[in-house]
Amino acid sequence: MQFRYVLLGGGVASVTAAMGIREHDKEGSIAIVRDEPTAPYDRPPLSKGFLRIPEMGLDDVSSKFDSFYPDNGIELITGRTALKLDRASKTLELDSGETVGYEKLLFATGERAAIPRVSGVDLPGVFPLRSIAHAEAIREALTTANSVLIVGAGYMALELAGTCLKMGKKVTIVAQDTHPWSLFASPTTGAFLIAYFVKLGITWHLGTTLTTIEPGLQATTLSGETIPADVILLATGGIPNGELAADAGLAMSGASVVTDEFLQTSDPNVWAAGDVAHLHDLALGCSWCAEHHLHAKWTGQAAGANMAGANEPYDKVAYFWSDFHEHHMILRGLPGPNAVTRVIGDPASGNYVELYGDATGALRMGIALHADEPKLDPISDRLAELIRARVQVDSVDGFEL
Ligand SMILES: Cc1cc2nc3c(=O)[nH]c(=O)nc-3n(C[C@H](O)[C@H](O)[C@H](O)COP(=O)(O)OP(=O)(O)OC[C@H]3O[C@@H](n4cnc5c(N)ncnc54)[C@H](O)[C@@H]3O)c2cc1C
Repeated sequence: MQFRYVLLGGGVASVTAAMGIREHDKEGSIAIVRDEPTAPYDRPPLSKGFLRIPEMGLDDVSSKFDSFYPDNGIELITGRTALKLDRASKTLELDSGETVGYEKLLFATGERAAIPRVSGVDLPGVFPLRSIAHAEAIREALTTANSVLIVGAGYMALELAGTCLKMGKKVTIVAQDTHPWSLFASPTTGAFLIAYFVKLGITWHLGTTLTTIEPGLQATTLSGETIPADVILLATGGIPNGELAADAGLAMSGASVVTDEFLQTSDPNVWAAGDVAHLHDLALGCSWCAEHHLHAKWTGQAAGANMAGANEPYDKVAYFWSDFHEHHMILRGLPGPNAVTRVIGDPASGNYVELYGDATGALRMGIALHADEPKLDPISDRLAELIRARVQVDSVDGFEL
């Protein structure tokens, strides 16, 4: 098999890359190669409505209608894992024994769930969540479960907590973090989240780790608690699927594939996008790896356009959102430890903006929380402008909350 463009992965970054290519090249052959057996789908609903609405299926989360692929001359090769990238011969070797040749390759293999090294994580009733197959298995297990233990305190953990609460489950969270979202948000926001979920009946065990899970799902923590649960959900982060790229000698940053601002890797015939890409971000003036849906969508589109000759740098301010129980959050900019924080609005009300600046006080990230989701759109737009302008955190005036 030989194609002008091969998009390896088949997540949202690959789908939008195909769209980006077609904006500039209507004829060149395109193949999407993906290991999952389904057509591409969007993952964000999997931790939200999908788990509690039994009628939801693949069609409800599909990235595109099935006709999108034939209508745009895209060959979908599903259920095939690429085992090797050979840059000299410009081929991918698949687990089926087939070889797929490319002129231009997009490396968009995303992430897989990180599984903590704890005895018992492979017991029945313990689940990671990355794919629709995971979500279907969790949904099935939740039909008879009364109690759920969630491991982790990042955005996925809180989304899962909110979903399980809506299903009437008793929810406990264990996490080594001292407050939720600790990788990007301040203790002020952490305190709001703890209080929000305490009111809904959640039990928190923070600042400790899971040490073992015994059969019958008895979880033990380092601080000595034993927590029985019917289902245990692992929300313990992700690992970029970068091995093939590293083995092929592409420049890497850890497990992520390094790109320039055009999403081009160290090989001029290979681009990378989405969760696996470590890109040079013009808007933020740094190189980093974002693991968000819109980032994957936008970088995929830009990489595809550039593969087809657009030659345009990627220049969007990173955008992440999360929905937990009846509340909503948006984040713009660079998540991570920031030196300066300033709250606008009342955190106790749950409707507020928090600004994060670097050591010079320049705005690097803003998050906004609100019970009324549409209120967040104009705030998000304004945050993006302010971050791009590198304003001082102190100089920002009020937001419409
Ligand atoms: C449950 C869940 C909820 C989320 N909610 C949100 C949210 O609310 N907001 C938000 O901004 N983001 C959210 N995200 C993150 C978002 O879904 C990801 O950022 C996005 O899916 C990344 O897209 P991608 O195309 O880079 O990679 P992926 O979607 O991971 O797709 C990559 C694909 O490549 C396949 N693959 C890997 N290696 C190979 C190989 N060797 N051969 C063939 N195929 C291969 C993988 O199996 C996978 O199907 C969520 C993620 C999950 C899992």
